[in-house]
Amino acid sequence: MSDKKKDIRALTKDQLRSFFEGIGDKAFRGNQVYEWLWNKGAHSFDDMTNISKATRQILEENFVINHISVDQLQRSTDGTIKNAVRLHDGLIVESVLIPTATRTTACVSSQVGCSLDCKFCATARLKRMRNLNPDEIYDQVVAIDRESRLYHNRPLSNIVFMGMGEPLMNYNNVLKAIDKITAKEGLGMSPKRITVSTSGVPKMIKKMADDQVKFKLAVSLHSAIDDIRTSIMPFNETFPLSDLKEALVYWYAKTKSRITYEYVVWNAINDRKEDIDALITFCSYVPCKVNLIEYNPIDDGKFQQASNTAIDAYIHALEAKGIVVNVRRSRGKDIDAACGQLANKS
Ligand code: SAH
Repeated sequence: MSDKKKDIRALTKDQLRSFFEGIGDKAFRGNQVYEWLWNKGAHSFDDMTNISKATRQILEENFVINHISVDQLQRSTDGTIKNAVRLHDGLIVESVLIPTATRTTACVSSQVGCSLDCKFCATARLKRMRNLNPDEIYDQVVAIDRESRLYHNRPLSNIVFMGMGEPLMNYNNVLKAIDKITAKEGLGMSPKRITVSTSGVPKMIKKMADDQVKFKLAVSLHSAIDDIRTSIMPFNETFPLSDLKEALVYWYAKTKSRITYEYVVWNAINDRKEDIDALITFCSYVPCKVNLIEYNPIDDGKFQQASNTAIDAYIHALEAKGIVVNVRRSRGKDIDAACGQLANKS
């Protein structure tokens, strides 16, 4: 009996309304339950105090609410918080709260593990176990919002899909989660405050453009030279830079939304003038900005952050061409919460 119970949050509002009609109740009951599930964050049917006991009993017999639980919360000396999030089947993902002077950003996971094989990323060493459901993504955001209010006295202001996994390989669920995050019945956040970061899956970038999504796009570029990019991000063999370029041109034509390129400069990998020149050429294809990310070592001597001189060379060359460039310092390194360090060490 129990394994027949369905995850109630996999139902749309209309499906919930139909369910209530089907049992001879009012369709409106579906709206009430939907609000409990998504807006009021009910963890059990007994929380739903304006629903009769008999109806709650029926819900209990037919459905489950699969809620995440924050198993472990680690706090960095810089205010960053990392959550180890336990899913209903016992698997764990991580999400991070990153506070700055003006904003609080949630960095959330979209998959358990990752199917990509970026050589510099700790998550890539984990097998991809499964995609996260929309509610599992949404719940991570709700948990971080709560922590932001508790520890930093302000609500969450931004969300980045830069935790574990490749969001575009779990596109439908990511989109559904964002729908809930932005909906009035959900968190009511503006999509402009949400960034989806991808290693660059051309077909899916075009699909997002066709879907007229309103959130922002970031692409983990790291090199604009095919051979080098393939050596550090092997899937580049399948999705070469020419395909990525074509998809990004398509994205911009449809959305008019500027793209962010994430880029780490490593010693003896991409620290030469020709690497910079290639990046400048790539930046000429569509309006964009470049975020130079600090490298977070993952216990592999192969990758070392380039010298400040090499990074300055990038900054000067990009700025000379009028390209906006930001240097992103790492946060939460002491608790392995920085970019590329999420790997369930605990
Ligand atoms: N799969 C998505 C999102 C997760 S990774 C993507 O590739 O964009 C989030 C960002 O962290 C990416 O830009 C990724 O390239 C970067 N990253 C991965 N490992 C890193 C490391 N060890 N140090 C710094 N940044 C890293």
